[in-house]
Amino acid sequence: MRIRCRTLFNTPDIELWPADLLRARSNRDARILARAGHVLRRKRDGRYLAAALPEGLMPLLPRWHREAGLHDALDVLDALADARRSGADDAATLPLHRLQERLQALGVDGDAYAARTGLPLVPEPARLAYAGEDRYRRPLWLHADTARAWPRMREAAARDGVVLEAVSGYRSHDYQLGIFARKRARGQRVDDILRVNAAPGYSEHHSGRALDIGTPGEPAAEESFEHTRAFAWLREHAATHGFTMSYPRDNLHGIVHEPWHWRQE
Ligand SMILES: [Zn+2]
Repeated sequence: MRIRCRTLFNTPDIELWPADLLRARSNRDARILARAGHVLRRKRDGRYLAAALPEGLMPLLPRWHREAGLHDALDVLDALADARRSGADDAATLPLHRLQERLQALGVDGDAYAARTGLPLVPEPARLAYAGEDRYRRPLWLHADTARAWPRMREAAARDGVVLEAVSGYRSHDYQLGIFARKRARGQRVDDILRVNAAPGYSEHHSGRALDIGTPGEPAAEESFEHTRAFAWLREHAATHGFTMSYPRDNLHGIVHEPWHWRQE
């Protein structure tokens, strides 16, 4: 019997997903996912590259073996097969060196952005813990510490009759780079995008320790969240669970007021 894995293993270009948490996109996918342990998934666009089956790797995309960053992903897969090395450090993070090149390609001056906002570059964790589903029924990935703290806080709120929902947790550099690339392709100026989106690499969501929190009947990531019972509850109780609001009104980073965005220390 397959042991259920609840960890996302992260490499610069490819994620290793527990196969049972992935959605099958075809009947062939479904048959393969049912037998697979992990699936190698390209971060840039979410495509499935190959599945780790008991008898070996099954390609899911032509030319997958020429994929950028495959070497790193296969190293992690090998380490997983070796029980002695499977206890990797929750605090381990991925290197940042390629991010700067990609920011330059998009016309984003990372150093100037850091100087203006006082925000640090945030590396991605080497592994993330499954923390249930978000409000859209997607797997919610968080840093291991935050994945323990979030359900506790959510249950405490529920005991007080308040429903908290996760809108968004961990987001990769690739995810944020993708938002930027699409907006640039539509002709938006870098400065205008930066008024709405954190520069890729500088979002607290990259750490897996930040959560956008919502409550039923309330649109996601809107300032009106501050008038909900959920927000009132968080103001009073979040600190006892280790969560703080990162971007209150008039914060020093010049980021718009985000009452929905909380970070766990
Ligand atoms: Zn957020």
